[in-house]
Amino acid sequence: MKKVYFKTFGCRTNQFDTQVMLSNLHQFITCNDETASDIVVINSCTVTNGADSSVRQYISSLKRRNPNAKIILAGCGAHAKGDMLWKDGSVFGVMGHSEKSNIDKLLQNEKPFYEIGDLKHIDTTVVENFVGKSRAFIKIQEGCDFDCSYCIIPQVRGRARSHPEDTILNQINILASNGYGEFVLTGTNVGSYGKDIGSSLATLLKKISSTRGVRRIRIGSLEPIQIDDSFKELLKEPWMAKHLHIALQHTSDEMLSIMNRRNKFNEDIKLLNFLSEHGYALGTDFIVGHPGESEAIWKEALQRVESLPLTHIHAFTYSKRDNTPSALIKQQCVSGDIAKTRHNELTSRIKAKNKEFRQKNCKNLEVLLENGQNNIYKGFDQYYNTLEVYSQEDLNGNWIVADIVEVQDDKNRLQF
Ligand code: SF4
Repeated sequence: MKKVYFKTFGCRTNQFDTQVMLSNLHQFITCNDETASDIVVINSCTVTNGADSSVRQYISSLKRRNPNAKIILAGCGAHAKGDMLWKDGSVFGVMGHSEKSNIDKLLQNEKPFYEIGDLKHIDTTVVENFVGKSRAFIKIQEGCDFDCSYCIIPQVRGRARSHPEDTILNQINILASNGYGEFVLTGTNVGSYGKDIGSSLATLLKKISSTRGVRRIRIGSLEPIQIDDSFKELLKEPWMAKHLHIALQHTSDEMLSIMNRRNKFNEDIKLLNFLSEHGYALGTDFIVGHPGESEAIWKEALQRVESLPLTHIHAFTYSKRDNTPSALIKQQCVSGDIAKTRHNELTSRIKAKNKEFRQKNCKNLEVLLENGQNNIYKGFDQYYNTLEVYSQEDLNGNWIVADIVEVQDDKNRLQF
């Protein structure tokens, strides 16, 4: 059998898509060494021009290290740059998002192929196991109807569409009976779930929670305007992970308007305070250095960040993405050095807030352990903070409840 190596770039959705491809691969064996494989499938990311360069650099280095491998481009990059990379011979094959269930057939091609498919498709593949993971990731929807100025995603993943409820529940059932207790709901814009099929995220969550074996549900990134009353009613449920990731992207209304966002700071602060009062740790995405972010705007934005009960952050330094409205903005551009400084200011502030939160919330931490290496096991507690445990016993996949922990700068630690 021929050997296939999978290289995944980008977000959780892409990681899930790799699992979908693996679940559909029957005529090949997977291989952990890209230099010894016959075929390399690149599940690519195209979120910024930098992400495109990383994929191109990987292709060039792979060609040097394994000149005989057939390179197949999948993922968002297939939709953005696949045509060009296929025409110039950089890759042997291109497969679009809708072609993941045909991977077995496509990889058997002896001749170069370009199968981009469409952006209306919904995967029906049931992923029964996740390689190397104790938590199961479930993709509940595809695509996005928002048009944030800096974002290419709607162009390469299509408009928002929900996976059918019975497909999701069937998948959860199978995974729960395979021993998974924690489920992470992912998608391009998770909070839009249900709009197109007369349902809602809250309705889906209630149904998932009543599946036997489901102990904890985590939800991917939500937009502030998507937290409605029906969702708020679920905040006290014991199966809800006590961490929500609310994508604000900025705290300056001027920047939010330039970015064509739908949230405003005054509403964001009310929402985050409400969630925090219900005992939730709160994360956000934040883009620094987007065109238009003057020094005065940044100063105000940072002060506003201080006033928010945030505990986690994914801070991104703005990076231009061709074919987006932001790439055409002529307003003041922020230099790389300044953006880096702002990024550091922001992340160090949230790091300190995270430690304060962990000092106050260090009891009754429910942790699902994974990644055991050299007798060190790691896992996330209900607040999405890392707990590290030393043990000579195999604790991979075990749930523990921790009460006495040492609160370190970036994680909690428990000695068995
Ligand atoms: S919400 Fe905005 S940033 Fe997120 S995928 Fe949609 S367009 Fe992109």
